[in-house]
Amino acid sequence: MAEIEKVKCLIIGSGPAGYTAAIYASRANMHPVLYQGEQPGGQLTTTNEVENFPGYPNGITGTAMMMELQQQAERFGTEIRNGWVTKVDFSQTPHKVWINEEKEIHAQTVIIATGASAKYLGLPSEQHYLKTGGGVSACAVCDGFFYRKQKVAIVGAGDSACEEALYLANICEKVTILVRRDEFRASRIMKERVLKAENIEVLYNTETEEVLGDGQVVTALKVRNNKTNEVSEIPVTGFFVAIGHTPNTAVFKDFISLDETGYIKNVPGTSLTNVKGVFVAGDAADSRYRQAITAAGSGCMAALDAERYLMTLED
Ligand code: NDP
Repeated sequence: MAEIEKVKCLIIGSGPAGYTAAIYASRANMHPVLYQGEQPGGQLTTTNEVENFPGYPNGITGTAMMMELQQQAERFGTEIRNGWVTKVDFSQTPHKVWINEEKEIHAQTVIIATGASAKYLGLPSEQHYLKTGGGVSACAVCDGFFYRKQKVAIVGAGDSACEEALYLANICEKVTILVRRDEFRASRIMKERVLKAENIEVLYNTETEEVLGDGQVVTALKVRNNKTNEVSEIPVTGFFVAIGHTPNTAVFKDFISLDETGYIKNVPGTSLTNVKGVFVAGDAADSRYRQAITAAGSGCMAALDAERYLMTLED
């Protein structure tokens, strides 16, 4: 049987929430161990320029910012490891966490900072071309380059869809945004930027019926106007999906209280969950703000709450 490792503070996730928790926990001598999960650096590594994080007057790329946060956490002694959590048992203390289905960790405190993942439409054709890597993506910044000077479409009407459409508009010949209602959900400033862009076309009341292609690569989209029921084809080589996110909390569901959409319920104004010694930070509990800065702030809260909890154990 593999050896069991005992830790004071286990941090799960490597976005701004996880790394900020790690900075605070390591400076408080909690010797945190942080598992990076499937996407080291979290969602910010799929974003382009971060312009709204205080302290970066000229902006910074998401990837560079996450590398700096990682270095800052390491500087104070956080042990950062690759691997993801495959099972937990929070029924008694210390809390048990399994990494990659093999390594078992017993943690006095656990900080969940697992974030959220992109949603897809769920169409079989979308999933097919996602698997072939032939033209479906949920990350314009990661994949936009492959569609340089080509025609692409993006589905969604929130800030993410607008941000990604603007990013693609700089690279691609033409970007078509498919908006399912007759209005955007995005903030006014983002919507206006999109409407001003010369090579972005907005199709309102439009739903995607099928992603068309030759089996390997995407060649067009079949879309339907949900007011007129008219069906048409849009020739594109890339189809980007920007319709929101799902919190990465499934592995905790047997022990941690979740809301109806899967976000972890925290005691309002704190990082406390329904389990003593288990704390939450970042998008895993935040369907409302979902910003790097709010995630970082809640990472700080989780580390302070964990530190206070550890002190009560020593009393
Ligand atoms: P949102 O939940 O805000 O928007 C999702 C969009 O996808 C909505 O317009 C929704 O349509 C549409 N949608 C959902 N399901 C479907 C579907 N099946 N078919 C077609 N369209 C669909 O998610 P975002 O990821 O855009 O943003 C999340 C949060 O992050 C927001 O709070 C946002 O403000 C913030 N954000 C901020 C940024 C910034 O400040 N720079 C950048 C990116 C995000 P409908 O409107 O009809 O419901």
